[in-house]
Amino acid sequence: MRILLVEDEAELSAIIKKGLEEAGYSVDAASDGEEGLHMATEYPVDAVILDVMLPKLDGITLLGRLRREGIKTPVIMLTAKDTLSDKIKGLDVGADDYLTKPFDFDELLARLRSLLRRGSETKEAVIHIADLQIDTASHEVRRGNKLIKLSAREYALLEYLAYRKGSVVTRGEITEHIYDESFEKDSNIIDVYMNYLRGKIDKGFDKKLLHTVRGAGYILKEAQE
Ligand code: CA
Repeated sequence: MRILLVEDEAELSAIIKKGLEEAGYSVDAASDGEEGLHMATEYPVDAVILDVMLPKLDGITLLGRLRREGIKTPVIMLTAKDTLSDKIKGLDVGADDYLTKPFDFDELLARLRSLLRRGSETKEAVIHIADLQIDTASHEVRRGNKLIKLSAREYALLEYLAYRKGSVVTRGEITEHIYDESFEKDSNIIDVYMNYLRGKIDKGFDKKLLHTVRGAGYILKEAQE
């Protein structure tokens, strides 16, 4: 999943970005409101973490413009002070959640997971596809009783497919949502990772769950036949 972080405090921004990347997210970072609005409008991000106090354009104005343009990307607002009016303004203008600084990083991750689940059919932290279990909180993956070890990239790919289980996910969507703007879009890296993933998720099991839909993309589901 791809996250846009709009935060002007360089040190805090770097800490959040690093933490999110360690949790398997791709992160695009903006350091002022105008840049943030541009990226939120132009990039296919799955969620936005948005500071309220920002140079050039404050977070509440930014969010208002985003929502007026019909962009419904989930947004968590970071409010610097525990002022009720900022929270109310933020929620009224279309924020999905907020956190008051200083916040616990694990809480940010939990709220982010909750927001990302809203767009999918999954309401729990653990996603099930047949006997495959993906715990989006601990990143533990099991097939039956077998614990499957995945690299961060493999996990991110599997999680993205799992949130969209039963639906075809195109290569373009994978490129856009798993990788940030620095990613080399022309490479065949997706096929490479898909093969790694298939080797770990399906190899040795009778039921295959990861399928290629020729000319369209990939789908994670229990096969019908
Ligand atoms: Ca700020």
